[in-house]
Amino acid sequence: MTRFAKRRDKLRSQLRKTKLESLLITNATNVGYLTGFTGDDSYLILSADRCVMLSDQRFTTQLEEECPDLDVEIRGPGKKMLDSIAAVLKKLKLTTVGFEASSMTVALHSALKAALAKCELVETTGWVEQLRMVKDRDEIDRTRRACQLARRAFEVVRATLTPEMTELQVAADLEYQARRFGGKCMSFPSIVAVGPRSALPHANPTAQRLGADDFVLIDWGVNEALYMSDLTRILVTGKILPKLRKVYGVVLKAQLAGIKAIRPGVTAEAVDQAARSVIAKAGYGKQFGHSLGHGVGLEIHEAPRLGAGRDLVLKPGMIVTVEPGIYLPGWGGVRIEDDVLVTRDGHEVLSSVPKDLDQCVVG
Ligand code: ZN
Ligand code: ZN
Repeated sequence: MTRFAKRRDKLRSQLRKTKLESLLITNATNVGYLTGFTGDDSYLILSADRCVMLSDQRFTTQLEEECPDLDVEIRGPGKKMLDSIAAVLKKLKLTTVGFEASSMTVALHSALKAALAKCELVETTGWVEQLRMVKDRDEIDRTRRACQLARRAFEVVRATLTPEMTELQVAADLEYQARRFGGKCMSFPSIVAVGPRSALPHANPTAQRLGADDFVLIDWGVNEALYMSDLTRILVTGKILPKLRKVYGVVLKAQLAGIKAIRPGVTAEAVDQAARSVIAKAGYGKQFGHSLGHGVGLEIHEAPRLGAGRDLVLKPGMIVTVEPGIYLPGWGGVRIEDDVLVTRDGHEVLSSVPKDLDQCVVG
């Protein structure tokens, strides 16, 4: 059985549990997760014994290559996806169908309701996303490679930094190197923020030059074979002033406390708290205004979230970021981020870029 068939089987047991006949999967990431298909504009209908991919003629060959074990319903030019859905449900004699409420537009839902007048549409939320939280060996390997590519690109760019370079140039170079090393693309547009600009947790790169301040925050990641990495480092391009040493020390201590707390059986909230309490104790609680981390995989932000009020319990195979930060408007921000796998007996940090402050000095 392929790993995709295994995933579909897990979804079938969810169907049985909720006594639902079938599920219509419209979220492209979820369709890919369940089938291995890397195209888009294609939906999947899954029932107890059938699985049909609904697509169009642009993808006929790609579907044969990527998902040879699937039944495929290809519609011709001018034919509508909605008609395909209705035809397949009728052919399979399915009268109740679950839909993915959290990724469907109101417009599509209304159109489905009209087109499937004889079917009962049942709202489901996060079924596939729940499965995606726990990664299999192949997904872990891909994420590991995504972390290695991020490191290689970072090391090359780091060795070429000059005071004249702008934030935009650093972001462009990171992407160029990541792709030269074989990455598909960046996981997201890189954040490169010099000095005070790093106080914006999601700063867009500008024409600001590295030489304008003593440090730069870089938040980047590489998409390797669809799986993503997500890292943040501070690089010291000038002097280590006492304030940077102090703030950096607190953030690093918090990050290591968060990582140390990761193991099967603990809640996402407890991990957040382990890191947050270090920052609060140092007097910077109000300056850490986001949650500690997030799941990373086919999407850059996915379940589980590590934050207050998250009672989700960590399981082996989950991959989360741990990224505490302290942001001081006018001065700057420090965030340190790594990708961490929950293992059977604890955790493994998948990303490996040095992070002791003295190792972050560009020389
Ligand atoms: Zn990040
Ligand atoms: Zn992140």
